[in-house]
Amino acid sequence: IKRSPNEPEFHQALKEVLESLEPVIAKHPEYEKAGILERLVEPERVIMFRVPWVDDKGNVQVNRGFRVQFNSAIGPYKGGLRLHPSVNLGIIKFLGFEQIFKNSLTGLPIGGGKGGSDFDPKGKSDNEIMKFCQSFMTELCKHIGADTDVPAGDIGVGGREIGYMFGQYKRVRNLFEGVLTGKGLTYGGSLVRTEATGYGLVYLMDEAIKDIGKSFKGATVVISGSGNVSIYAAEKAMQLGANVVALSDSNGYIYDKNGIDLKTVKQLKEIERRRIKDYLEFHPKAEYKEGFEGIWTIPCDIALPCATQNELNEESAKALVANKCFAVGEGANMPSTPEAVKVFHANKIIFAPGKAANAGGVATSALEMSQNSMRYSWTFEEVDAKLKDIMVNIYRNASSAAKEYGCEGNLVVGANIAGFLKVANTMLAHGVI
Ligand code: NDP
Repeated sequence: IKRSPNEPEFHQALKEVLESLEPVIAKHPEYEKAGILERLVEPERVIMFRVPWVDDKGNVQVNRGFRVQFNSAIGPYKGGLRLHPSVNLGIIKFLGFEQIFKNSLTGLPIGGGKGGSDFDPKGKSDNEIMKFCQSFMTELCKHIGADTDVPAGDIGVGGREIGYMFGQYKRVRNLFEGVLTGKGLTYGGSLVRTEATGYGLVYLMDEAIKDIGKSFKGATVVISGSGNVSIYAAEKAMQLGANVVALSDSNGYIYDKNGIDLKTVKQLKEIERRRIKDYLEFHPKAEYKEGFEGIWTIPCDIALPCATQNELNEESAKALVANKCFAVGEGANMPSTPEAVKVFHANKIIFAPGKAANAGGVATSALEMSQNSMRYSWTFEEVDAKLKDIMVNIYRNASSAAKEYGCEGNLVVGANIAGFLKVANTMLAHGVI
């Protein structure tokens, strides 16, 4: 912490993980002897760079770019790129650190990394987005590669941005290789990648609630955000028979008690890039309220926070409990504050942390890497079946690790331990590097 001042989100992630690893360290003195934790919390490499670009008015703009290559013990660095004004080194380190365990949990050979920039895509023209992406990749391309580091999308980075970045990588490096995931289907993308994080979240939650005799069928579901993860979590929950009644963005939330019309949401968010409140233009009986936190006061059985970090606080957690919500699954990374997580645990609510619950995106990215290596594409059904298997296994592994270390039902501890063991044992095998 002394070495990384002013990085509160990174400290928050460290504290949660390190506390849950205490019983593992007590049982395995060899990890302490080999300095596994001290090495694990220090990124292997941090790259920070200037991203200059010219806006539509001819003004020079400068952003800061980041790539944190955190841990490559079990495979090439893998993790998304985030474009959002809140991005700073501490945020990228928190995300990169979490990514190590998440990627390990998938059972696939991928290390942990994360990147992005404080560039704000909101209100930018298509031309400005392209200019930024090209400038960003002109520097980033020196540090990544299909067997070194394979970035993907995250907040503010979808198919369009990946396309511009891939084009620039190919042009500068003169290489057509699987260096990014989330690519378009005509140049190496995988079917199901767009849907993967949201679908995966629902697959994992479905497995978790089965253990208490519940299912999505007939359940009322509240989902925050209205981006990639939220939309496809809603789609899969609806396919399983749930009634999804609310979605949000950083300005406010919509409540449509008979069920959100996802076609309208997709048109507004994926095609027209508009705000969630515009839903009311097409569904005037729905309600819109300003402020994003009020969404958690809507009565529901299952809550899926899918927007951003620390969006669900203690008060919101108490509101969910009061309304008899029985399960919370994190589609976003660290959306629940530590105080909120305590409320869920104290009230025996099934709580699946992001690192386990949203691993479907990166897992499918790893499947995209496999397909690129083979220069071959699997069908939608093949990828979807693999994704479902992976999510069920993640739940089973996290759940049994929690049990083994005396914390039955605590998926936070279980996911951290299950993810940690594979990385720690590999680091032991590689010696002190
Ligand atoms: P998008 O950019 O597609 O969507 C983010 C959504 O969250 C937008 O609707 C945004 O609204 C909204 N939002 C941002 N801040 C808030 C807030 N405080 N309250 C309510 N809504 C808010 O991003 P993704 O869907 O890709 O990512 C969402 C989360 O999921 C992130 O935490 C990301 O790290 C995580 N994740 C994503 C994966 C993926 O495959 N995409 C994989 C694993 C995790 P607005 O337009 O107002 O900003």
